Amino acid sequence: MRKCTLCTERRDAVGAQTLPVCVSTCPSGARHFGDLGDPASVVSELVRRRGGFALLAEAGYGPAVRYLPPRPRAPAAPVPAAADMASVGGVERWLNRTLSC
Ligand code: SF4
Repeated sequence: MRKCTLCTERRDAVGAQTLPVCVSTCPSGARHFGDLGDPASVVSELVRRRGGFALLAEAGYGPAVRYLPPRPRAPAAPVPAAADMASVGGVERWLNRTLSC
C-alpha cells in the first residue's frame, strides 16, 4: 500500500492544473482539490463555509488535507401506504416509478 501523494507525479507530467484522479473521477463530487494557502481559493471557501477540519492538527504535522462534516440529509421520500399502491396500479407500477426517478 502506498501513501497518497496527491497525484504529484500525474500533475507534474500532465500539468499543475490537472486534478488528482480521485477528484476528477468521483461520481458524487465528494472530493475537492485546491490551494488551502490561498484564502480566496474555492477549497478555502469550502472549508470556511462547511467547518472543515484537519485530523491530528495538534500533533504539529501541518496536514494538507481537510475533512468536511456531512451535509444535512434531505428528507426521505415517503413510502406510499398499501392502499395508495392499489390506487396507482399496484406494486410493480409504484416500483417502476420509484426506480425511474
Ligand atoms: S488518486 Fe487521490 S488518493 Fe490516490 S494518490 Fe491521487 S490524490 Fe491521492
